[in-house]
Amino acid sequence: MRKPIIAGNWKMHKTLGEAEQFYADVQGEIPDPAKVETVICAPYPFLYRLAGLSEGKAPSVGAQNMHWEDAGAFTGEVSPVQLKDLGVNYAIIGHSERREYSNETDETVNLKLKAALGHGIIPIVCVGETLEEREEGRTEAKVSGQVKAAFVEVSRGEAEQTVIAYEPIWAIGTGKTATSEEAGAVCRTIRNTLGELYGGETAAKIRIQYGGSVKPDNIGELLAQPDIDGALVGGASLDPESFLRLAEVA
Ligand code: PGA
Repeated sequence: MRKPIIAGNWKMHKTLGEAEQFYADVQGEIPDPAKVETVICAPYPFLYRLAGLSEGKAPSVGAQNMHWEDAGAFTGEVSPVQLKDLGVNYAIIGHSERREYSNETDETVNLKLKAALGHGIIPIVCVGETLEEREEGRTEAKVSGQVKAAFVEVSRGEAEQTVIAYEPIWAIGTGKTATSEEAGAVCRTIRNTLGELYGGETAAKIRIQYGGSVKPDNIGELLAQPDIDGALVGGASLDPESFLRLAEVA
């Protein structure tokens, strides 16, 4: 009932020419969009071009961040109105790298989540624990706290449009993946938290991705977990062949 969603997070990689080449390589090769949703979250300067190349066809185009205001004196920022105007329909919100380096907080994540939903942008909200938090047994408390804070004042109908990405910080870019059981257990915790907020029926509709060193050879077992509905993929989304393989397995 939940359609799998594979999102690439290119972070600060590629030139425009390389981004165009990626689209040329994958377009037409992507599996049936009715079966799996695919998105590339590219750097801001490429979004206009890639949204034009995508033209509603897979993979869709997403941003890696956005501001919550529609417009204003926010130097260096990009608004949801501007993203929508370019044909960008997804945005990653609260990635751990932004929480760490760019002052992203639970409060700004909540503001951005509401702004995205208000403008018809599908938010991919990231949550996850540090290695220290995991070792101290605080994973579940951390993650469900982040989920509760993100969804303050978000209606049930809006919550259903949201994608959550569980990304243990210690597994990002490190080659260390959480075992599929570990990942599945935290995703179940997230769904239970959503159930507390919105009831089981709504919680069952919300898609939860796993992220952190996902590759074509480990995505199958991750997706076999009942509460994992897709993946947010950094490094392995940069290569067209590997992105296609991820989408095919899903
Ligand atoms: P990774 O990054 O797949 O390179 O570990 C995932 C992410 O940060 O979204």
